Amino acid sequence: MSEILYNKVALIGLGLIAGSMSLAMRRAGVVGEITGYARSQATRDTAREINLVDHVCDSAAEAVKDADLIVLAVPVGAMGAVMAEIAPALKAGALVTDVGSVKKSVFEAVLPLLPKDVSFIGTHPMAGTEHSGPRSGFAELFDGRWCLVVPPADADEAEVAKLERFWKILGSNTERMDAEHHDLVCAVVSHTPHLIAYTMVGVADDMSRVTDQEVIKFSAAGFRDFTRIAASDPTMWRDVFLENKEATLEVLGRFTEELFALQRAIRQGDGAHLHDYFTRTRGIRRGIIEAGQDTDAPDFGRVKKAE
Ligand code: NAP
Repeated sequence: MSEILYNKVALIGLGLIAGSMSLAMRRAGVVGEITGYARSQATRDTAREINLVDHVCDSAAEAVKDADLIVLAVPVGAMGAVMAEIAPALKAGALVTDVGSVKKSVFEAVLPLLPKDVSFIGTHPMAGTEHSGPRSGFAELFDGRWCLVVPPADADEAEVAKLERFWKILGSNTERMDAEHHDLVCAVVSHTPHLIAYTMVGVADDMSRVTDQEVIKFSAAGFRDFTRIAASDPTMWRDVFLENKEATLEVLGRFTEELFALQRAIRQGDGAHLHDYFTRTRGIRRGIIEAGQDTDAPDFGRVKKAE
């Protein structure tokens, strides 16, 4: 039986990440009470129906009342407005955290609105699926995945350590970094790959009009994995690119240069260049598997449905 780390936790936003946190907190028995709030009646009704949190509130202020830990789990572009809404209702000594995929812009939006006796530490669980909404959460989402912990410069060490402990109990490994570094790392490992997947699926969709749906028909190959990523929530990802503009553009610039180099190698029949490049990238995939961040089972470990 785990110790109770936070007596009352308030989840603001009740989608994939908040829902998974609630289920993981219950699994671990690490908090006393979980309240939740989402802006739409439909989401609140669903959360009540499936008993996603202990108490679904009809206002953000009611949800955060007396809460020790408040989790902002809304799209990154909405963090500032949500913080402004809850600020007057926060109790002294409370800790606010967010789970947004971008950190610099969230800090800029949230920190100026923080009451004097309330602290803030950013987190980013590096775990997700292409599904969203209150029914999409599951308790195992964070198991074995990284949660990046991003404390502001003046954060209290004991509070940071406690929040790290909390994420570890939910199943994650944790690592600390500053907001700027976080945004660059995520632009490389998550944001730009999503943009590339969106683009590839868009191109294929345009071409399918020409080739009579062949793209869809034969999508069992690598393309299918792009379509999974490209099915991710449009609001969340719109906000990620708008809010992590600098780092994403930096990575995209480098990506474009590499793409041109590969394009030239193909045009010039430079097989050695292509072979060397693909050998290097294959090694990276092996490294990810060795680090336990993916499976080398055929078809990414998907269970094959009976034909
Ligand atoms: P989600 O399933 O789409 O849920 C989003 C929640 O935010 C919903 O409850 C929604 O309320 C609420 N919301 C949307 N727009 C809002 C607005 N303008 N003002 C107030 N509330 C709003 O999203 P999620 O995947 O849980 O993502 C939540 C956060 O986690 C985002 O910041 C995202 O960047 C981050 N994150 C996501 C992933 C991922 O893979 N999905 C991974 C790590 C971190 P209604 O349902 O009432 O509309």
